[in-house]
Amino acid sequence: MPGRKKTVVGPALDPVAFQGSLAEWYRIHARKLPWREAVDPYCIWLSEIMLQQTRVAAVIEHYHDFLVKFPTLLSLALAPEDQVLAAWSGLGYYRRARMLHKAAQFITSERGGVLPANSSELRTLPGIGEYTSAAIASIAFGESIAVLDGNVERVLLRITGRAEEPTAAGRAFLRTTAQSLVPAGYQQNGASRVAKVGERNPPGDHNQAMMELGATICLPRSPLCLQCPVHALCRTRGEHGTSPRAKLRSREVAFLLSIRKRGVTTQVLLAKRPPEASLMPGMYELPPLPLDAGGDELSHREPLLRIRHAITNTNYYARIYAPMGPSDDALRKAVPLAKADLHWVNTYTLGTVPLTGLARKVLQRLDVMAMKPPRGPEPEHQTRPKGGRSAPVSDHDEDHDSF
Ligand code: SF4
Repeated sequence: MPGRKKTVVGPALDPVAFQGSLAEWYRIHARKLPWREAVDPYCIWLSEIMLQQTRVAAVIEHYHDFLVKFPTLLSLALAPEDQVLAAWSGLGYYRRARMLHKAAQFITSERGGVLPANSSELRTLPGIGEYTSAAIASIAFGESIAVLDGNVERVLLRITGRAEEPTAAGRAFLRTTAQSLVPAGYQQNGASRVAKVGERNPPGDHNQAMMELGATICLPRSPLCLQCPVHALCRTRGEHGTSPRAKLRSREVAFLLSIRKRGVTTQVLLAKRPPEASLMPGMYELPPLPLDAGGDELSHREPLLRIRHAITNTNYYARIYAPMGPSDDALRKAVPLAKADLHWVNTYTLGTVPLTGLARKVLQRLDVMAMKPPRGPEPEHQTRPKGGRSAPVSDHDEDHDSF
């Protein structure tokens, strides 16, 4: 059972035994992930930024497509920000994409297009902090520096039998222990270089193995200790003492889905978030509806879709409403935004628009993303989405991705 456990005291951890057992297990059991084949530092950097607080499955979906659109650091640097955000749509935490883009531009203009090859210089780039600099430096350049993410911290606490301690001393303990376990790098005389294809990279492989162990074996709840390669060295062999977690909050929100035809083109009405917004500035979303829109306007309508969307520690319960017909403009009038903030967007271009994660999810769920211009001219009128359901859809989404 989770909860407070006493710190277990015992002999110091043997780094050589630990490294050997972990490396052997990783060699056999490592998941085949697309970025693990890469030696190009740009690809490794991209994967590490995408993986921050994001499920591996979601990153797999976006990693390849992003590299097709921006195959090199230079192509990313030269792209307009909107295109970068559009390629990031669905991964959430869009600040990461903006910082990645800024860093690519800086590297191109100030560093001759070459990514720094050590952790301290990497950390000077936009969007690259302690964790990411260590990951890139060890995996791409073989630097002997430990990564410390949530998975690694959990493994270290359990291995050492230490309870979670959210203090500077607790953090220092984890950093020192993690570093004591990292093998020496292949750098010589402090000079870094790019890893070669198929070359052993002890620090990079070790860091990836630590994260893999936390992600697949040393799970937050019910760790699979009997399958653990370092079981014999572990002082906990089970869950460890943890601090109480913040409770998830719930929030209800509503949005308008308005679709129209213009000639052969289908368009959807989107709102652009203000550039000064603290969350997702400049991104496009469905126009928000106040929950008390038009007095009881929403209360006598059935939503077209209900969907749940989790963002950090908040569960958003979103209802999507569509007009009942061409003459029903009450919902549109209830949108509390100026005309200048609203844009009719051609549905076949939605794949290139920087949409919020929730907007993208709704438009995909209702088949609006897939809408193509019809072959022949059609009369102009407002309509429900093609393929959209006339009956309300109750669809509680269980994904925990973010805007
Ligand atoms: S033995 Fe269990 S608790 Fe210890 S590191 Fe392995 S999986 Fe985690």
